[in-house]
Amino acid sequence: MERVGGLSGAGTAFQELMAEKKKFQAIKGTRDLLPPETELWNRVEQMAREVFGTFGFGEIRPPIFEPTELFARSIGMDTDVVGKEMYTFTDRLRELDWPKWTFSDFKRWIHLVDTFVQEGKIPRFRNEDILDQMRATVASFDRDLNGAPETDDLRELRDLMEQLILGDSLTLRPEATASVCRAYIEHGMHAWPQPVKLYYMGPMFRRERPQKGRYRQFYQIGAEVLETLQPGQGGAKDVPKDATVDAEVIEMVMTFFARLGLEGVQLEINSIGHAAENCRRGYVQKLKVALEKVKEQLGPDSQRRIETNPLRVLDSKLEREQAIIAGLPKIADHLCDDCKQQYAEVKRQLGLRGVKYQENWRLVRGLDYYMRTTFEITARGLGSQNAVCGGGRYDGLVELLGGLPTKGIGFAIGEDRLILSLQHQQPSREVGPRADVMVTSSGEQTWQEAVRVASSLRQQGLVVYMPNPGTRLNKALESANRQKIRIAIIVGESEMAAGKYVVRILRPFEEEGPRDQQIPTNRLLLYGRLAKLRNDLERKVRGLLGENPQSFKGEGLGMILQRLEADKVLPNFFLRTTLKEELRDLVQILNRALHGSYLTEGSEEWALVVGNLVLAELDRTKTPGSEDAGALQ
Ligand code: ATP
Ligand code: MG
Repeated sequence: MERVGGLSGAGTAFQELMAEKKKFQAIKGTRDLLPPETELWNRVEQMAREVFGTFGFGEIRPPIFEPTELFARSIGMDTDVVGKEMYTFTDRLRELDWPKWTFSDFKRWIHLVDTFVQEGKIPRFRNEDILDQMRATVASFDRDLNGAPETDDLRELRDLMEQLILGDSLTLRPEATASVCRAYIEHGMHAWPQPVKLYYMGPMFRRERPQKGRYRQFYQIGAEVLETLQPGQGGAKDVPKDATVDAEVIEMVMTFFARLGLEGVQLEINSIGHAAENCRRGYVQKLKVALEKVKEQLGPDSQRRIETNPLRVLDSKLEREQAIIAGLPKIADHLCDDCKQQYAEVKRQLGLRGVKYQENWRLVRGLDYYMRTTFEITARGLGSQNAVCGGGRYDGLVELLGGLPTKGIGFAIGEDRLILSLQHQQPSREVGPRADVMVTSSGEQTWQEAVRVASSLRQQGLVVYMPNPGTRLNKALESANRQKIRIAIIVGESEMAAGKYVVRILRPFEEEGPRDQQIPTNRLLLYGRLAKLRNDLERKVRGLLGENPQSFKGEGLGMILQRLEADKVLPNFFLRTTLKEELRDLVQILNRALHGSYLTEGSEEWALVVGNLVLAELDRTKTPGSEDAGALQ
């Protein structure tokens, strides 16, 4: 305590704060993501990078805040997001520091603000009126000046002052498509090889009512494909190409979900046409007329939307509106020829990619800029907030933001919901031991060497647990056992003198094999790599089985494999028989090596190479319950 106070150089202020106990809490609708859950977040993000990478996407990291106008313009003023959900604040210009609390300084300050308005540094709108009122207040004071300023007058001035817009209006991003388009224009990406494929991930902010799967700070993983029209491009002849892009983007999201083993994924698609009289505009007119006729039977939200955003009425989840909505005109019957053809081609392209979908004519996106292809993906275990991904085509958005005519399609995945759904289907994904090895010393003299051993193993990527120095060996081993660590490397004085480390197998991998052995110090790294490989394999197999680690008690990898086959838990677990055989051989070699029966150098190398190949192969193996393994259930 004292030291901190001393460091701050303001001991008393610090002590006062310490005395006044205060508890801080994360703001409503925000939360801390903690380990071990963050491991799952990282795995999901890693998988997105990997899958999106194979489709040729590169990462973009736009800023978290942007000019308010960017979102107002792109998302649309009549949407909930812009209308009521944005976190907007004024970024006050530095030159406009608050005035001192005297009338003369207020006069000076009002004049200063006025010059900023005249110079266009801050908006004229609203500010001019407020400045007039402030001048009037100061003038009235000048007139009946007969003593100290009245606090009431000062308060009035302060209230007015707070209403001024003294800088740029900024907003925490509620989504990232607008930012990506802004960046596309700003960096002249129309001159890059086309199309430009970008993905992003990160926090978004919307002031919504927090509930399960709905937060005020939430995370999205999204991607966009942008392509600026070249001379002679556009129109009907682009339809097949655009449809291919749409289908490929959808295929990419579905591949990502499949690779994660996400269950119960459902894709819905629709076409909402384009903004023309013979297409969506004409349809919306008809929809409006039809809605006016049933207005009295609709709830207040839908009634309001008849004027502001009639398409959104189709989105309504209100029970009593469902029957009415079912009778409304459908957009599919009002699409222009190009849009119709495009929609048909998207469906054909999805079919030939093996992507299963359902058509939903009521699927409209909440944001204004979408056209033609729209889609939404839902997953299990999320209650009413079950949409994990929304996307669609938005040709024209880049132009709306001041760029060249450019086509666009993209999607945004709600990462929070994706994680919730993964956790729902497999409550404990956390498998295997927390660390690969424990490293400790048998006495104080060799502690330094133990630290060195730990450091070199960590450089090899091993997770190393080190008990505190001075911990008695027995205690250290107990603690390692509790953490289900399987290997302890003990640096002992006499062994070290002989150029060896002691290795103790803490939990039996297999029934046979000695408990203790010694490895020459110069084989430490090879040993470490084999140990890590073995643990990685075990984690992977258990993860695939999706069973709670506890249910395996002391079983080694070899036994688990036997059980796998005997129980037919996963009949098609290994896609290829050779893979299965390789894995079995590998486990034997690894176990022998780890138990001290050294193999020839060649076979150790073989074990490492094949081991990593097997790991990669297992990575591609689907978990039971995912699309392809459906027959198992
Ligand atoms: P919803 O209808 O659920 O409000 P939306 O139409 O507002 O979704 P989009 O703007 O399309 O959502 O965003 C894409 C995805 O982002 C959604 O499908 C959802 O998974 C996620 N998402 C949107 N808002 C939130 C939020 N407040 N909290 C968590 N995830 C969200
Ligand atoms: Mg929403």
